[in-house]
Amino acid sequence: MNDEFYMDLALRAAWRYQALTLPNPAVGCALLDKSGRVLSIGAHKKAGFLHAEVNAVFAALCDLDVNFAQDFACEYARKFGVKFQNTKALKSALLQPSFTYDFILNRHGGLLGGACAYVTLEPCAHRGKTPSCAELLAQLGLSRVVIGARDTNAQAAGGAEILRRGGIEVKFDVCHTAAAELAEPFYLARESSFCFIKINAALNGVVHGRIGSEKQRAFVHELRGVCDYVGVGGQTVRADRPTLDVRAAKSDEISALVGRADMLALNTRAPELGEISVSARADKSALDARVAPQNLKPRAPDVWIYSHRALLDFDESIPLFGVAGRKVEVSQSLPADAKITMIEAGASSFDEFAQFASHALIFYSAQMRNAGNFKANAALQPLFISSASDPHLEANEFYGWFKILK
Ligand SMILES: [Zn+2]
Repeated sequence: MNDEFYMDLALRAAWRYQALTLPNPAVGCALLDKSGRVLSIGAHKKAGFLHAEVNAVFAALCDLDVNFAQDFACEYARKFGVKFQNTKALKSALLQPSFTYDFILNRHGGLLGGACAYVTLEPCAHRGKTPSCAELLAQLGLSRVVIGARDTNAQAAGGAEILRRGGIEVKFDVCHTAAAELAEPFYLARESSFCFIKINAALNGVVHGRIGSEKQRAFVHELRGVCDYVGVGGQTVRADRPTLDVRAAKSDEISALVGRADMLALNTRAPELGEISVSARADKSALDARVAPQNLKPRAPDVWIYSHRALLDFDESIPLFGVAGRKVEVSQSLPADAKITMIEAGASSFDEFAQFASHALIFYSAQMRNAGNFKANAALQPLFISSASDPHLEANEFYGWFKILK
C-alpha cells in the first residue's frame, strides 16, 4: 500500500459530507498506527463540530482503549445528559468539541505515538470553534502527517509549520488534484459563490413521480439547511406547489444534544438519530455554560424562483411563500447575495440551470420507471460516487457528485 491508497480512504470519507460541512470544507482523515495498520477513518461532518482529524483520533482511542470509551461516555452523560448505547454510537455521534478535545488530551495515554495521519487538507492552525488540529496531532506524538492539499485560508493555514515544530515529518500534495476537487465547493463559497444542481432520478433517469426514500429526503433537507438559497424553476413552483423547507432534517435532535438547554425540554419524541438518547436529567447549568456551536437549528433557506415573470404572478397560497422569515426572489439570474445555492432541478431544466452551477448532485434509486427521463447536454465529470452502504441513504439508493464542465 502506498500513500495514495490511504489518502483515497480519507477522500472518500470526506465526500460523504460534501456540502453538509459548509461554510467549512469537507475534510477526511485516515489514521495508521506505527506498524501501518489502519486505526480509523474520520470526516468532518458539520460546521461547529469536530474536525476530521479529531474524529479519527477519537475513534482510534475508543478502539484501542476500552476504558477511554467507557470513561468518556460516563463523563459526557454526567455533563451533558446524553447517553450512548454502545461504542459505535459514540464514535458516530456529533460530540461537543471542546469537551471531547480536552478529554483526548488528558487521556490519550501515548497510544498514538508514532502514528501516521493522512489528511485531505492541511490541518488547521488556529483555535476557532474547535481548537487547532495541528496542535493536537503534535501533542499526540504522531511521527508523520501526509497532506492532500495546502490550506490557502489565511486564518487556518500554518498547520504544517506547527507539525514540523512538533518533530513530525510532513508530506504535501499526495492525491493533490483529488484533494483540491474535494475542497473546491468550500473555496467557491468563501471566495464567490457555490451553486450546485440537485436532481433525484430512477436508475434509467426518470424523474417523474415520487422517487427517493425518507432517508434521501432527510439528506436533502439537511443540505437545504446549509444553503442561503434553494433555486427552483417557475414551472415547478406552479405545478408542484412545494414548501422547500427543512422539516425532515435530523438537526432538530442535534440541537437538542448540543444546543441550548431549553431545547432539551422540547425534545420529548424519540430521537431520529437512533443511536443517541437524551436524558431529561441533564445538568442544566452545564448545558447553559458550554459554548453552543452556531447555526445548529437549520433555517429554511431563502428561495430563488428562476422565471421571467414577476413575484406577483405566483399564487401566494403556494406553501413556499408561507415559510416564516423567508425571502423569495424571482429573477433570471442568481441572487447577488447567494453564497451557497442548491438548485432543485426538474426533468427539462438541467441545461438551463447549468449556466449558474459548477457541480451537480444526482441521487439514484435502483428502480426503472416507465416515464420521461431527464435530459441534459451538459458534460459531467464524476468526482465521487457513493457506496452501497452510504449512511445517508437506503440500500437501494446511491448518489454522485459531478463537476459540470463548461
Ligand atoms: Zn482542524
